[in-house]
Amino acid sequence: MNAILVSKNGGPEVLVPSEATRPEAGPADLLVRVSAAGVNFIDVYQRTGLYPIKLPFIPGSELSGVVEAVGAEATGFSVGDRVAIAHGAPVGAYAEYAAIPAQRAVPVPAGVTDKVACAVMLQGMTAHYLAHNIRPLQTGMTCLVHAAAGGVGLLLCQIAKQLGARVIGTVSTDEKAQLARDAGADEIILYTREEVVPAVKRITQNRGVDVAFDSVGKTTFESSLLSLVPRGMLVSFGQSSGPVPPLDPLTLSRNGSLFLTRPTLAHYVTTREELLQRANDLFAWIARGKLRVRVGAEYPLAAAADAHRALESRATTGKVLLLPSA
Ligand code: NDP
Repeated sequence: MNAILVSKNGGPEVLVPSEATRPEAGPADLLVRVSAAGVNFIDVYQRTGLYPIKLPFIPGSELSGVVEAVGAEATGFSVGDRVAIAHGAPVGAYAEYAAIPAQRAVPVPAGVTDKVACAVMLQGMTAHYLAHNIRPLQTGMTCLVHAAAGGVGLLLCQIAKQLGARVIGTVSTDEKAQLARDAGADEIILYTREEVVPAVKRITQNRGVDVAFDSVGKTTFESSLLSLVPRGMLVSFGQSSGPVPPLDPLTLSRNGSLFLTRPTLAHYVTTREELLQRANDLFAWIARGKLRVRVGAEYPLAAAADAHRALESRATTGKVLLLPSA
């Protein structure tokens, strides 16, 4: 089968189109013919070696596709079912076929296409737990969403609005500003042209935001902290611009007895029930037109390196997909 193989850590060029042996479903696995594979920052971190993975490996933690074979101990799925998965470890999604753990797979309902299902798994479930399960958003609250036109960003803006919160989004370009507005952001800060903290103070009449969702990391962390109301919550959930430097806890006290969390999706889908509840919420919202999923770019599998270059250079909006059959 065609696959992308990483044999050494490095830049996008280590994503080499290769001929690989088609995997077999282990006892607890589903063998899936991949329709779409999601491109995520976690793939970049695994490619570079920041998150070490035993070499060689086929990258990709997120996919949708059709079940071709069911392992002897895997229950709840049949050949021909449409499924999707987002996993913390690579499941070899950058390939024509992948063997995935059935326990982590979710059935895709009829109203949702394979592309959209793949596009919403990792970033959608992330936006879901961020909005609901850290400091639950509700009417009367204001939140800051950095990289609001990104994969998580566009979904988080929509879910935060559904919950009644006021959303201030940051983006780098006018095009991204429009996308974030279309996703429901009430206010936009072009953080490439304007300082975030004074802009937040201006927009909130000096009050600040209740929650800051920060996926950008290095370049935005401090502004997130300084944008919060007393006892506000900083949710540092990514590092697209680089890692956040160490922090003295006294900084939280000095700036208003603030809260800081560094969450990760795996700890918010700890049971199969929690996984299905989040995925099913997302699929139901999509089917009812309550949640729009933007696939900003599609690449053939062999162009995985170009997809990584685009993601890393801030050239993407919404979701980036690889299509093995393109
Ligand atoms: P995005 O689509 O948000 O892409 C990253 C965006 O970050 C860019 O488009 C860009 O938006 C902004 N950005 C700002 N500075 C930089 C920079 N120096 N280099 C690259 N991008 C920059 O990605 P995702 O939605 O896939 O993921 C966002 C982050 O969330 C990632 O760090 C990812 O690892 C993390 N994440 C964390 C999860 C968790 O549970 N903790 C789960 C899922 C993702 P702009 O041009 O507008 O500045």
